[in-house]
Amino acid sequence: MDYQKLAELLFPGVTQTPADMEAKFPPRNLPEGAKVTRFAPSPTGFVHFGGLFPTTIGERLAHQSGGVLYLRIEDTDAKREVDGAAEGLIKTLAHYGIHFDEGAVIGEDGNICDKGIYGPYRQSQRGPIYHVYAKQLVSEGKAYPVFTTQEELDALNAVDKKAEIKAKDWHEDQTAQKEAMLKARAITMEEVEENLKAGNPFVLRLLADGDPEKKTPFTDLIKGKLEIPENDEDFVLLKSDGIPTYHFAHAVDDHLMGTTHVIRGEEWLPSLAKHIMLFRYLGFRMPKYMHIAQIMRLDENGNKKKLSKRDMGANMDDYSRMGYAPACVCEYIMTLLNSNYEEWHMQNADKPYTDFPFNIKKMSSSGCLFDFNKLNDVSKNVISRMSADEVYEQATAWALEFDPEFGKKLAATPDFAKTIFAIGRGGKKPRKDFATWADVKPYMGFFYDYEQIDTFAGEHDQETVKKALSLFLGSYDPADDMNGWFEKVKAVAREIGYCDDMKAYKADPTAFPGNIADVSMFLRVAVTGKLNAPDLYTVMQILGEAETRARIENMIQTI
Ligand code: GLU
Repeated sequence: MDYQKLAELLFPGVTQTPADMEAKFPPRNLPEGAKVTRFAPSPTGFVHFGGLFPTTIGERLAHQSGGVLYLRIEDTDAKREVDGAAEGLIKTLAHYGIHFDEGAVIGEDGNICDKGIYGPYRQSQRGPIYHVYAKQLVSEGKAYPVFTTQEELDALNAVDKKAEIKAKDWHEDQTAQKEAMLKARAITMEEVEENLKAGNPFVLRLLADGDPEKKTPFTDLIKGKLEIPENDEDFVLLKSDGIPTYHFAHAVDDHLMGTTHVIRGEEWLPSLAKHIMLFRYLGFRMPKYMHIAQIMRLDENGNKKKLSKRDMGANMDDYSRMGYAPACVCEYIMTLLNSNYEEWHMQNADKPYTDFPFNIKKMSSSGCLFDFNKLNDVSKNVISRMSADEVYEQATAWALEFDPEFGKKLAATPDFAKTIFAIGRGGKKPRKDFATWADVKPYMGFFYDYEQIDTFAGEHDQETVKKALSLFLGSYDPADDMNGWFEKVKAVAREIGYCDDMKAYKADPTAFPGNIADVSMFLRVAVTGKLNAPDLYTVMQILGEAETRARIENMIQTI
């Protein structure tokens, strides 16, 4: 077979050569050891937690080595593409602070465009580039066409949209498959010419020279040393519409874009043999690979399950709705990524996570366990270290979107809200009040909307409660400092016969009908309508004398 002629027949319009491509996309000029990583999502839906996770690894590896992180949109499967998904995922990733140095970005006009010289960064626009390499493989006898008629193709696609790639008839039985493959390989020049003349479509298959009995040693940076059986499948490179399969696009793009580290899900491990072969055939140097295990979760019975698309916590948009701050989610991902992160963080509480020396070797090779409780813990810590201004900005932005009524209240009086957020903030042991912005209203909504509750029924004599509240009002002076205020609460306790000292009370609880904590509780319930609230002295200071008195009086009336 004259392969050169075959290549010309199949790709008459391709005039450029691999050398032209190499010249157009030269090796990157980066410092020694700089890593080039990418996130390469298919725009078929939302960003999954299992997608942000490897992206964070890629981001860390690239940026802590002075390298490049880029975004490539793998939109070769138009049938699975979801409208607006590409824009959505670019926005979501930006929300989580993932900074791409180049790739697909949203331009000023709101449409996706390219930033960087290694583009286009959407595979759907790279057709001519793939065809250059396809033509080369054909001209070297490493790939060949398999023709069908349009009718056959339509029939196949009606049954299974991916039929031409899966080539079902090849897989059903090994012997039949081999035979079909050999027959397809033996296509003659006349047959090719006839088919082309008839306008029949073809898929391009790689001519595999592997022997699955033989194994190639391979080191995955997470999975360690592996033995990969050689590939003997003539897999599809180009579909009948000329669009590449994942395998082919992966090899061409990651080569031309200079990727040094491919970080992807372990579901790609079984395809690795194909990729090893493809890189060899194309004469490309292979990047390093990290195959990430699926994220796990615990089900109701405590069993580990894969975190699937439908699970709560899978869709990154869920986190925004639930009110998680991006910084909290990123911090949580860091704790999952490197076992020593938390320890480092305790010693370097004031440093951003980007200062942490992320290390591939400290990653677990089995799936990380996703856990909301842990996320909430991490989140509370992160928010407790934010300034009142920061908390105000983020909580208000969240509330305006997801709880506008409350959001508008926060936005109406920023200084008032910030004073509230400042309670217990700063210092060595800041209050850990919020895991999400949705926790803000239950915690401090009473400053705005006050709903009176009565929780004294049964437990305390109502007349005593009333008396305590009246006594407090009698002595209350907003000019008191915290000590002065507390002394007055103690005095109230004594006057109603309650113990004003917790130690003494605990020594003999039967000696008193109640204690100072009960009195504080009466006041707290009266003023905040809640059993749990921030420091009551401060609350009264913020509410001001009139409001404080009104609320206590109101309570006295209702009892
Ligand atoms: N588009 C592929 C996916 O979404 C990318 C895999 C890769 O990172 O190479 O699974």
